[in-house]
Amino acid sequence: MNKQTAITTQSHPGHSDLVADWDRLFRVFICPKGHASRATLIKYMDQILYGLNDFLKKNVGITEAVSLKDLSERFTDTVINDNPQKKLADVITCLIKEIAPHAVNVSSPYFVGHMTSAIPFFMVHLKTIVSALNQNVVKLETSKVVSVLEKQVIAKIHRVIYNNTEEFYRHHVQNADTTLGVFVEGGTTANLTAMWMARNAKFQPKADFKGIEADGLVAAYRAWDVDRCVVLVSRRGHYSLRKAAGILGIGNSNVIPIDICKNNRVDLSCLKRTIRRLQIEEPKTCILAIVGVAGATETGTVDPLEDLAEISTQVGTHFHVDAAWGGPTLFSKKYRHLLNGISLADSVTIDGHKQFYMPMSCGMLYLKDPAAMDVIAYHSNYVNRMGSVDLGIKTLSGSREANSLILDSALKIMGAKGYALLIDHGIETAAAFAREIKKRELFELMTPPVLNILTYRICPPHAKKLLETADNDRRRIINEKLNTVNRRLQQIQREAGTSFVSRTTLLRDNNPDDAIVVLRSVIMNPMTTLSILSEILDEQERIFERDLKGLLEGQVLVA
Ligand SMILES: *Cc1c(COP(=O)(O)O)cnc(C)c1O
Repeated sequence: MNKQTAITTQSHPGHSDLVADWDRLFRVFICPKGHASRATLIKYMDQILYGLNDFLKKNVGITEAVSLKDLSERFTDTVINDNPQKKLADVITCLIKEIAPHAVNVSSPYFVGHMTSAIPFFMVHLKTIVSALNQNVVKLETSKVVSVLEKQVIAKIHRVIYNNTEEFYRHHVQNADTTLGVFVEGGTTANLTAMWMARNAKFQPKADFKGIEADGLVAAYRAWDVDRCVVLVSRRGHYSLRKAAGILGIGNSNVIPIDICKNNRVDLSCLKRTIRRLQIEEPKTCILAIVGVAGATETGTVDPLEDLAEISTQVGTHFHVDAAWGGPTLFSKKYRHLLNGISLADSVTIDGHKQFYMPMSCGMLYLKDPAAMDVIAYHSNYVNRMGSVDLGIKTLSGSREANSLILDSALKIMGAKGYALLIDHGIETAAAFAREIKKRELFELMTPPVLNILTYRICPPHAKKLLETADNDRRRIINEKLNTVNRRLQQIQREAGTSFVSRTTLLRDNNPDDAIVVLRSVIMNPMTTLSILSEILDEQERIFERDLKGLLEGQVLVA
């Protein structure tokens, strides 16, 4: 038994002394001041910082050692105790010793499968301060200076995206009537907010119609003589756009996926063809928004934003850029050109919990026009009164935490250059990883990295050769075999638990009949190096040789 467990069992022999009474309850709201209690509380914070940081050094978490089935059998009790079950010390020990080891070690440099990764340790301090202050940014009366600071940090990021004049920022930074951006829960809600704005801006009040927000969709379509609204985005668009269309009554089947080119960017000629077809064949269809992706979730690719902006202007539609992932690339002097055209967007989504390395969860939406959010303003009698500066007037969220404190502090601690170094490391390590993949004959690089995401698969040399000359049917058969191998490979590696890449399915040539399972790597952890990535490939080669090669033999896919 180690020291921590000994302490907790000693001081809390049983549970019988735990009762919920007024006296004890009252004490929970007062931070103990005595020397001993203070020392204990500080020790807990120490355990949280170091105990949690140390957890699971050995594996990345999704292992077979304890199956999800076993775990779920341990969590079936659904009765809440009348009296307290545990003291704080026991709860913390339990979280560190029993829960954390079965969570996923997203901070491992071998965990390169998702957009969730290590965060700087100071984020824990900042998050703790946010909890301790417990400000509610929905209204000034529960946040005061935090509302002011939020407007400031929003203006700082707005400047990185739109780079307006000093005068512009001086006018808007603390202007209660205008909004340069809003904090929301995540990229999903940011995209939803953007579509909400686009919808309401299109269906403004006129004559007897009080606007879509007031009178609803049917009245709106009637008043504006519209049959249908569509949102145009490449096949690489995030599925949150479909959610948004569903929630907003536009219908998620009206998010039209536009084919992509070989480089995974939206095919502009296909987009133009689609627009022309809609304009000619369905004159009562309204193109509500065109969305460009800056850092596609699956491939990390960036659409030609300047071209999309121009097309949006011609069509007269809202141009939204989903930079949930790629936004912070703007900090990199070397790579910010990859997002050229983003400043032409009417709205831009950026996630704080992705490449700002903030703890879960933080999304943001930025607006070119500081008056654009007026179309989603809500007032009530007790908060967000007319003319007040309450930030809750123009956000989807009601009560929310002071994420601006975390972002603003992080920007101060890291500097724009600190973020730039992280971005450069990710992009350059991904490029080096791509070269390593190409060097190894067992692998095929499927989508080369533009930012720090790439996909590849196992495809033995013999299979590559066959694919070169195969007709469509034959190719499909070969790819299905390879899909099985790659699917299994990802599972086996995940369950072995030393490293983690994710997996997705991409269409070859936009053809739904030619679906290809690929392995996906997201390089955002600064500790992830080429040598770690090479180890991951080594492991994949070993797994293939040991467990999977047989699946291809007899299919003449390996020589
Ligand atoms: C992650 C992501 C989203 C969704 O963001 P959440 O924070 O998960 O809601 C939307 N779009 C893109 C491009 C993303 O990468």
